[in-house]
Amino acid sequence: MSHNHTHADSLTGKLDELGYRMTPQRMMVLSAIEKSKHHISAEEIYSQVVAKYPHVNISTIYRTMELLKGLGLVTETDLGEGRVRYHPSGKGHHHHLVCQECGETADLDESALSALKESLLHDYGFSADLRHLAIFGRCAKCKGK
Ligand SMILES: [Zn+2]
Ligand SMILES: [Zn+2]
Repeated sequence: MSHNHTHADSLTGKLDELGYRMTPQRMMVLSAIEKSKHHISAEEIYSQVVAKYPHVNISTIYRTMELLKGLGLVTETDLGEGRVRYHPSGKGHHHHLVCQECGETADLDESALSALKESLLHDYGFSADLRHLAIFGRCAKCKGK
């Protein structure tokens, strides 16, 4: 945690620090994740990588995402589209409110679920890993209809 050299905060820097080999494809996957403003799906990453490396297989992307997830460098969540989206863990924990009617999503601060986390621990002795959740329902606009 006290590493402070250049790029240590980037995904590339972290992976490099952990001793993983940096292939050009892997670098592209990492930069696609970092460049994405919000969340990115494996399919979107793939379409960026394949534009430059036509021989890349989508399973390479899935494997890289599994690796990053296992290392805790990205978190994933299913926003109800039938596929997961990723974002770098370094951007902080947050959750999502997803409207099932209009599809709009809003960010929810991590602290909003601390009461839930508390009561799961207190009532069930269950230590919940609430890192990246999507909560489905109806937004204020749709609820009013
Ligand atoms: Zn998110
Ligand atoms: Zn809505």
